[in-house]
Amino acid sequence: MIHYNITFSLRWTLLLFLAVSSAYGDNNAKPLIVTTTKPLAIIAKSALQDRAVVNYIMPSAQSPHNAVMTISDVKKVAAADLVLWVGPNFEVRAAKQLQSLPKTKLVTAIEWLDLDHLQPLLDKHHHGSYAVDPHIWLSPTTANRIAKALQKRLGLAPREIFNRRQRAAVNAILAPVKELSYLSHHDGLGYFVSEFKLKPALAIRDSMGEKRGARTQYDLRVKAKQLGVHCVFVEPQHGNKDALAIAQDLALPLKYLDLQASDQQMDEMTYEKYIRGIAEQFKACFE
Ligand SMILES: [Zn+2]
Repeated sequence: MIHYNITFSLRWTLLLFLAVSSAYGDNNAKPLIVTTTKPLAIIAKSALQDRAVVNYIMPSAQSPHNAVMTISDVKKVAAADLVLWVGPNFEVRAAKQLQSLPKTKLVTAIEWLDLDHLQPLLDKHHHGSYAVDPHIWLSPTTANRIAKALQKRLGLAPREIFNRRQRAAVNAILAPVKELSYLSHHDGLGYFVSEFKLKPALAIRDSMGEKRGARTQYDLRVKAKQLGVHCVFVEPQHGNKDALAIAQDLALPLKYLDLQASDQQMDEMTYEKYIRGIAEQFKACFE
């Protein structure tokens, strides 16, 4: 009887141990990386692969320019081993909380900006001390640098997340449309345009997704006609009334551009797929 009891309780302990270790054990061993946006999570996941657990806090269906951190976000960030964000000119309303984290834990992506493709902003007043386009994850050169910074922090060997072969493939997708004009929903495409040598966007809104004045919107219509624009891009994070109005006035098709990767499943996502997806959406403007 005593013998039976011991076996019984040992078996339970073992079962309990197995249950706990399968639920937590595997992930607990890996560092937790929390990013602000989904595109940054895609960069982190491509850089670290199965060596880390990667989560992001800002819902991809919302404009990250206006995102405020919730209490649950603050908790997630506190529990992370590394936190990746763009910088104080992008996650403007979350900057204070993020900057109060220990320096050893915070990776500020804008510090890895590739200066060859730097996109200065025309409208400086929104951006405090940085007069630089903050949509830096759309530059594969910068994304590779951010990836290497993360790999270094975790003691991993440096490895590119967007290589020459992948760049050539994206260039091939875009080759037929490099000289063609389009309207973008907000002024966020600069790095993508610069790296793949596309025509600069005519942007309906500024780089923070804010609407522009009536005069500017009128000028935009005139310029779009002169350039023979092919389509108007809309992004799901910004209400699209203004884009719709311009598209109707100029009889242009609306096309979808998912810069925040809101339609993509994180599990199967890589940075290469993300950039290729943007290239394909971009090309669809001219079809
Ligand atoms: Zn933006």
